[in-house]
Amino acid sequence: MKFTELGIIEPILKAIADKGYEMPSPIQIEAIPLLIAGRDLLGCAQTGTGKTAAFAIPILQKLYQQRHGKKADKPKALILTPTRELALQIFESFKAYGRYTGLKAASVFGGVSQKRQVAELASGIDVLVATPGRLLDLVNQKLCELTNISILVLDEADRMLDMGFINDMKKIIAKLPSKRQTLLFSATIPKEIAALSSSILRNHATVAVTPVSSTVDSIDQYVYFVDKANKGRLLVDLLNDRKLVSVLIFSKTKHGADKIKKILEQSGKSVKAIHGNKSQNARQGALNDFKSGKIQALVATDIAARGIDIDQLSHVINFDLPNIPETYVHRIGRTGRAGAAGIAISFCDYDEQPYLKDIQKLIKVTPKTVENHPYPMKLSAAQHCSAKRKIAFQKEGKNRY
Ligand code: AMP
Repeated sequence: MKFTELGIIEPILKAIADKGYEMPSPIQIEAIPLLIAGRDLLGCAQTGTGKTAAFAIPILQKLYQQRHGKKADKPKALILTPTRELALQIFESFKAYGRYTGLKAASVFGGVSQKRQVAELASGIDVLVATPGRLLDLVNQKLCELTNISILVLDEADRMLDMGFINDMKKIIAKLPSKRQTLLFSATIPKEIAALSSSILRNHATVAVTPVSSTVDSIDQYVYFVDKANKGRLLVDLLNDRKLVSVLIFSKTKHGADKIKKILEQSGKSVKAIHGNKSQNARQGALNDFKSGKIQALVATDIAARGIDIDQLSHVINFDLPNIPETYVHRIGRTGRAGAAGIAISFCDYDEQPYLKDIQKLIKVTPKTVENHPYPMKLSAAQHCSAKRKIAFQKEGKNRY
C-alpha cells in the first residue's frame, strides 16, 4: 500500500515525501480513508504507531479543501493532549505535513507564560493543539473561541484521565459546536473512556493496532544482572562504546535521574536530565540537544519521557526496572520506532528480579542475559542467607519464608 492510494491531496503527499516516509503504517492505512470520508473514530493505539499522521493528514486535507483561499481565523480543528511535550510534537507534525497547504497551527500548554500563545491565537489559526488546563483557562478569559471547531481529537485519552483532566475535557467539549467530527485515541479503554466515547462519538469506526505487549518484537532486549552499587560503573562502561550514540536512560525517581547524570558527567560524558522538577525551557532544551546529537545521553523519569518522539534513538537503558510491567513496554517502545530495529538494555539488581519476572510474563519474551561483563551480581551475605533460607523452606514444602 502506498500513500498515493489513500486519497491524499498533492501538497500533503509532497510533505510526506519530504519526511522520507515510504509506506503508510497500519493505522494510517485504516484511519486516513475513514477520516477523509468524515467518520468519527475510536483509535486504540499508542505512540510509535504513526497515529499522529493518521489524524493530522486528513484534518489538514479537509481544512485545505474547505478554505477557499480565506485567511486563518478562529481555530477549526482542536487536538487535546495530556502533556506539553506531546502538544509540541503534534504541533510540529501539523507544521511538517501542512507545510505546502498554507494552513496555520498553534500550540497552547501550561507552565509557560500565556502571552505568546494569546498573540498567536489573535493572529488567526486553523489548527489548535492544546493541553486541557491551559486551554480552559484561555477560553474562560475569552482569549480563545471554540465556536468554529468542526474537528475534535482527544489524543491519549486514557492518560488525560490518569492525569486528572477528565472534567476539563468535558467542560471543553461542552463549549464546542455539536455538529463536528470527533476522534478519540487511547492506548487502553477504561470504563470512563468507554462512557465518554459513547457519549461523544457518532456512528464511529474503530481502529485498533499493536496492543502494548506486541510492540517489542523488533527490539533486541538484554539484561545485565548487577549489584545496585555497581550500576553507575556499568553504565559508564557501556557508554564508552561508540555504538551507543543516542541513549535514553530511565530512572524511577527524579533524584535518581540527577544522580545518574552526575555520575556520567564525572566521567566526561555529554548528558542532560529531564524530570518534573525542571522548567519547561530546561526540558525542551535538553530534548533539543539530544535530538540534534549534541549530547550522547538523556536521563528521564517515566512521566517526563511520556510520548517523547526521537527518530534516531539507538538505545534505551533501564537503569532501574519499573515495578509495573507495562511501563517497561512504554519505555523500550521509545526505540525501534516505526519498524526500525532498536536495542533495550536493562540493569537488574537482586531486589528487582521479581519485576523482571513480571515483565517476562507480560511480553512473553525473555531478554538475553549478558554473562560476561565487568560487574556481575554478587550476593551479599544477608541475601545469601535469605536465599538459603528460601531454598530450605521450599524443601520443607513451605512457600513462605
Ligand atoms: P506517532 O505514533 O505519531 O508518535 O509516530 C511515531 C514515529 O513514526 C514518528 O517519529 C513519526 O515521524 C514516524 N512515522 C509516522 N508515520 C510514518 C511512516 N508512514 N513511515 C515512517 N515513519 C513514520
